[in-house]
Amino acid sequence: MNILASIDNRSPDVQSPFKSPKPISRPSRAEAEQAVTTLIRWAGDDPDREGLIETPARVIRAYEEWFAGYGEDPDELLQRTFEEVAGYDEMVLLRDIRFVSHCEHHMAPIVGRAHVGYLPRNRVVGISKLARIVEVYAKRMQIQERITAEIANTLDRVLRPHGVAVVIEGAHGCMTSRGVHQSRATMVTSRMLGAFRDRPETRQEFLSAINLRGAAESGNLFS
Ligand SMILES: [Zn+2]
Repeated sequence: MNILASIDNRSPDVQSPFKSPKPISRPSRAEAEQAVTTLIRWAGDDPDREGLIETPARVIRAYEEWFAGYGEDPDELLQRTFEEVAGYDEMVLLRDIRFVSHCEHHMAPIVGRAHVGYLPRNRVVGISKLARIVEVYAKRMQIQERITAEIANTLDRVLRPHGVAVVIEGAHGCMTSRGVHQSRATMVTSRMLGAFRDRPETRQEFLSAINLRGAAESGNLFS
């Protein structure tokens, strides 16, 4: 069973650019910094002491980086394609794409890597664009299942390839640093579309190429 089979690949969740069902009233920068000051006080420290005085401003600058994905349109990234591929019709794979995301339940970091493959139909996209797609979706408040599905669905929708395969391995800060304290646990999610879903040998080629520890042999994650 595909672990993401329940996610509809045309669900409103995966539209882009990011659209909220209701308008978001964005606070001012000063209000955002004030919120950080409140959290410092909530943690039990003095926001006026020297080491913390610049912290709210720094946190908000970090937020601009961590959540830069809200301002980007992933479909647009894939608009430029190359058609002179000399009949190349084998798998294109970019593996070990490192990313940092934040879980939407705790806003704790998710540190992981993504493996993204597709089977082109007449046209290919610049390889760096695959990494950029991962980045755009990672830099939002997320759950790993949705990042995985969004990357696969966007490639499928825009490039119309013969198939798309996305596997993500992630370590979740909300689990490693608190709660159950599973410091070494990683979560694996996958989304296989087209030939990668329908043809076991194509899926196997992808899984062998990414050399995912244990998963390719066990067969229980991807069958
Ligand atoms: Zn979490």
